[in-house]
Amino acid sequence: MSKKPEFIDDELQKRKISQQFRSLTPITPRPDGVTVERNGKTYINFCGNDYLGLATHPQVIERSRRYLENYGAGATASRLISGTMDIHQRLESEIARLYGAEAALLFNSGFQANSTLLGTLTDRHSLIIADKKSHNSLLQGALSSRASFQRFRHNDTSHLRELLEAAGDQFNRIWIATESVFSMDGDRSPLEEIAGIAGRFGAYLYVDDAHAVGVWGDDGLGLARGIGDVDLLLGTCGKACGSFGAYVTCSEAMRDYLVNFCAGFIYTTALPPAVVGATEAALQLIPTLNDERAAYHANIEVLRRQLQKAGFDTGPSTTQIIPAIVGSEAQTLALSEYLEKHGILATAIRPPTVPPGGSRIRFTLSRNHSEKQIDDLIKVLNKWDK
Ligand SMILES: *Cc1c(COP(=O)(O)O)cnc(C)c1O
Repeated sequence: MSKKPEFIDDELQKRKISQQFRSLTPITPRPDGVTVERNGKTYINFCGNDYLGLATHPQVIERSRRYLENYGAGATASRLISGTMDIHQRLESEIARLYGAEAALLFNSGFQANSTLLGTLTDRHSLIIADKKSHNSLLQGALSSRASFQRFRHNDTSHLRELLEAAGDQFNRIWIATESVFSMDGDRSPLEEIAGIAGRFGAYLYVDDAHAVGVWGDDGLGLARGIGDVDLLLGTCGKACGSFGAYVTCSEAMRDYLVNFCAGFIYTTALPPAVVGATEAALQLIPTLNDERAAYHANIEVLRRQLQKAGFDTGPSTTQIIPAIVGSEAQTLALSEYLEKHGILATAIRPPTVPPGGSRIRFTLSRNHSEKQIDDLIKVLNKWDK
């Protein structure tokens, strides 16, 4: 009998040597939405994506519970079989209405949508051009498609234009993919300009609005809504909606196409009723929270300014995702441990996720963080002795 080749231990060992081995640490959330317990100790969470605190909002929980009780724990089938309940359909109509779009379609997660949509929309005669800093799920989608795949330099519309010019008419269709708010740097893309370019070149445009939904744009419905030339807008429900799942808004014909051809939509059990209820309540709440959002935006600016005052480079961030770029990996890890010791959870991000020398702590702010919690974070950071 021949021996199976070793690879698991080898790969894990490499990760451990480079101090990049990762493991899972369970936490218990507190009802305030920003405090968590871990190994008996309390922390303020500055790395969550529950931007509006809706995961613990009474109306979100109430609707979720009601749908759970009335419709059961699971959807029990995929959408095209018997998994489309009236609540799925109603949520989709509500999303289309909120976005002023012809149609909307739910997906089980942003990852599932991104990793299957591009392959559904292209064939081996097509071209996908995505921003260099696109989320891993979009990358998975492009790589698993049969299309040619190119990337334009981050937010560089001249480079995008060059690639489109070079593509000429070699392809049956071109899809441009980008995000509105980027998850590592918290910066935004020049969406209007990209949409204009897509329009001029007759290319399709796919925009992932995951970190903007709930936080930015008119009525908090994101940055891509209402921009003509956006053919597919992806919103996710696991971030500011405090729920789970994702949706796209598009034309009626595009929705029919996806229902018929998108494997990531077809071959999976529909979202469970409790999740549909939570998302529905969250999306109804979001447009009513303009005052809360204004206060939240002010807190975001305070945190960014205070981080800069404390001597941290916050990079190109203009949003609730604020990196404090430290530089070396060792110092970043030291700062991360220091913060933990002082009851603060924030993510250390290191190469290969960011370029060498760009190691950072990434803070994300929630509307539920109090001014005192933000002050405390700043005080702790100011006392850090490099
Ligand atoms: C979080 C995220 C996703 C994935 O969404 P999930 O619903 O969590 O799977 C996709 N795109 C971007 C930009 C994200 O930040």
